[in-house]
Amino acid sequence: MKSLHASVPSIDAVLRRDMVVPLISQYGRSLVKEAVRSVIDDIRTAVSNLAKEAIPLLADDHIFVALESYLSRAISHSLRKVFNLTGTVLHTNLGRAMLADEAIESMVEVASGFSNLEYNLDTAKRGDRDVHIEDLLCKLTGAEAATVVNNNAAAVLLVLNALGLRKEVLVSRGELIEIGGAFRIPDIMTRAGCKLVEVGTTNRTHKSDFENAITSKTACLMKVHTSNYVVQGFTQDVSAEQMVKIAHSQDLPVIEDLGSGSLIDLSKFNLPKEPMVSESIASGVDIVMFSGDKLLGGPQSGLIVGNKKLISKIKKNPMKRAMRLDKITIAALSSTLRLYLDPDKIKSRIPTLRLLSRDLKDIKITAGKIKNELTTILNNDIIIDQMDCLSQIGSGSLPVNRLPSAAIVLRPKNTKKSGRILKYYADAFRALPIPVIGRINDGAFVLDMRCLEDVETFVTQLGELEL
Ligand SMILES: *Cc1c(COP(=O)(O)O)cnc(C)c1O
Repeated sequence: MKSLHASVPSIDAVLRRDMVVPLISQYGRSLVKEAVRSVIDDIRTAVSNLAKEAIPLLADDHIFVALESYLSRAISHSLRKVFNLTGTVLHTNLGRAMLADEAIESMVEVASGFSNLEYNLDTAKRGDRDVHIEDLLCKLTGAEAATVVNNNAAAVLLVLNALGLRKEVLVSRGELIEIGGAFRIPDIMTRAGCKLVEVGTTNRTHKSDFENAITSKTACLMKVHTSNYVVQGFTQDVSAEQMVKIAHSQDLPVIEDLGSGSLIDLSKFNLPKEPMVSESIASGVDIVMFSGDKLLGGPQSGLIVGNKKLISKIKKNPMKRAMRLDKITIAALSSTLRLYLDPDKIKSRIPTLRLLSRDLKDIKITAGKIKNELTTILNNDIIIDQMDCLSQIGSGSLPVNRLPSAAIVLRPKNTKKSGRILKYYADAFRALPIPVIGRINDGAFVLDMRCLEDVETFVTQLGELEL
């Protein structure tokens, strides 16, 4: 045993070998040294545990392969491109909206040089970074003023803190939402320093519930878009117009968390209609908050539009400084908003809307191509079918409305242990150079073709599938 331990080379000895010279020139000496230390440590452990069986690990060949694998992992990016074939277009875990080409170009331009981010080119004085977005947002929503922060959760937190600190905020019990990732209205309320006053019941809230709950401590009435569930049956809610009427009669503002919100009428694209920001503003809501990377199809951001005086108060809140957008996001957001100025371009230029409104015929053609490819590549133990399926918009938008789509489904011929085999299929697709994410459903591995546009890249890497 002792002699085997003695034959494990020292770190210095490995570093002196010819085989590490190319590694050092590629990865640098310090990283290679770290790799050698880790590989030698592993070999020592293996020798202790496996004794003689560990002898092959001492060969130069093995050491070299282990070093290469450590080094390539060390420099590889953790954040990678994937194929989203889950059927959920706005998938929060897979990065939500893809950006339009125009938005990407603006980001590159602003990132690679200086810009007038906070500099007024007319007066040569200090400017405000919101100006690059405010006019556009006002034009697109009909609001008087606008500001932006990092995401909609931040927008809600900021607005509540700016308008309701140490005061009461009235919300219907039917709208006390939780969305994924720990965003819950009652918790946000507490953190913003506001007191939540629940009014009405889960299924029914009346005008009088709001009227009776207003006190001298009331800061505002809040409406929340119940984006990820619906209340059906014996229900009653108070509309934005009604809330505005009640609030304004007492000189109080109404604020609304619209979640996704839309700048256009989605029914024009044959999609289920999502509440529009302009409709909230038109109904008299004083402040509307919504996400930049949901249906809008832009970068992660939280948009706040509405009454000029209130927006000015919100902008002066110290938390705004901690939540402000960086120049790259501002560039992407402003380019995305600009695309909305030309309604004819929206559907083709904004990838999220392009995918959501994609023609079923086109999705089926893609599915047919992929089915053919997979049939030639995969072995006969796997059944490959094309099937109709339903995609989801995602990110809490329109949870009950699904979009007809087409999928490729894989199933083992032998149904014994099929659960394990399906997981094995999913693992194999995830292990591709550009990982493919599908879902396991009803005894099959399902790949929804709605979000597959780059068929060529997808097909090229299928040869590497280990199935
Ligand atoms: C998505 C959503 C949020 C949070 O928005 P983020 O941009 O993810 O921070 C808040 N409220 C509602 C109603 C939502 O749907």
